[in-house]
Amino acid sequence: MANDNGSGNGLERYMTREEFEKIKQFGKGKETPFLVVSLSKVAQKYDELKKNFPYGKIYFAIKACPIDEVISLLHARGSCFDVASPNEIDKVLRLGVPPEKISFGNTIKKERDIAYAYQKGVRLFATDAPSDVEKLARQAPGSKVFMRIMCEGGNADWPLSKKFGAHPDLIYKIAQRVQEAGLIPYGVSFHVGSQQRDIGQWDNAIAQTKYLFESLRKDKGITLRMINLGGGLPASYIQPTQPLTTYAKEITRFLREDFGDNMPEILIEPGRSIMAEAGVIVTEIVMVSKKSTSANISWVYFDAGKFNGLIETMNESIKYPIFVDGPKSKETKEVILAGPSCDSMDTLYETYKYKLPKDIKEGDRAYVLSTGAYTASYCSVFFNGFSPMKFYVMD
Ligand SMILES: *Cc1c(COP(=O)(O)O)cnc(C)c1O
Repeated sequence: MANDNGSGNGLERYMTREEFEKIKQFGKGKETPFLVVSLSKVAQKYDELKKNFPYGKIYFAIKACPIDEVISLLHARGSCFDVASPNEIDKVLRLGVPPEKISFGNTIKKERDIAYAYQKGVRLFATDAPSDVEKLARQAPGSKVFMRIMCEGGNADWPLSKKFGAHPDLIYKIAQRVQEAGLIPYGVSFHVGSQQRDIGQWDNAIAQTKYLFESLRKDKGITLRMINLGGGLPASYIQPTQPLTTYAKEITRFLREDFGDNMPEILIEPGRSIMAEAGVIVTEIVMVSKKSTSANISWVYFDAGKFNGLIETMNESIKYPIFVDGPKSKETKEVILAGPSCDSMDTLYETYKYKLPKDIKEGDRAYVLSTGAYTASYCSVFFNGFSPMKFYVMD
């Protein structure tokens, strides 16, 4: 454990040595690559979030890690769930989650999928488009509808850009139509971008939300009751963030400033901040090579890459802490990291230079930390014949 990723940070910034040893032991004899999810860490992260946002109702965004054991654990702790499709609805219902604890948070929905959700008892839906409101009115009469405003996700490491939400002026119109169409205009949602490192983004979104609450009440007699603060809360990667306590303090202050004592119901939809640090991908170094006889830099190829777990290395957006196991040299060298498939896109980090021990060799195991979110289900299916990543849960 000699390398510091080039970030100047050792393992202890991310987990204790005991936690690391436990994962190492657990992975012994298992064929790489695989993800190990620590359920006790998931529980710890959930409890931490609850403590920091005591007034918030947590809707876990299950796309971040749709593993049964994780969903069951969060359900047992009182979490609600944000789903995006009929399959996700079926999954949480099968695990005993009642439909009242489900929010259909995807604004992009087929009419038949809305009908399915409604038939299963789901009564809370997101929207950001007039045509979607008409589909909801036909297939989910009387349901609560929250309307998503657009945030471009500036400063987020994984921005959700312009794909979701609509301008407040359009939302204002949509809210009226929701009311007329026999649905309940329930609240406003936004997502400031995943791994959002600029807390001020919530301030902007909350201010726009306040404008909508006020103008709809004053001009149209429509009283909204809920704000959905979305995801975007941080996990620990190489690029530093403020701690969760600072996020909570600031976001709470923004809410107080804009809503005072008339605080609406508050929902949060965490994915990454609960899951990321609970997972470690264990991978093997397949090859170490140089591109010419005079080249300085080595290419290091892992058996995990963009298509089997590490898609969020796209544009080097998320920089995972990576540690090589074993008694290794304290001296390090800069490397380019890549995955195993025959696609050049499957290069993980080339611009940002990771440092690994000078004496790494083929067959060594590398541990990619903070990989519990957006890995297990964010995989291709047998691209180049490589299996989707296996995953295990441990206590
Ligand atoms: C993915 C998603 C989330 C989770 O975001 P994180 O940044 O991972 O916490 C929350 N809400 C919605 C609507 C999402 O699509």
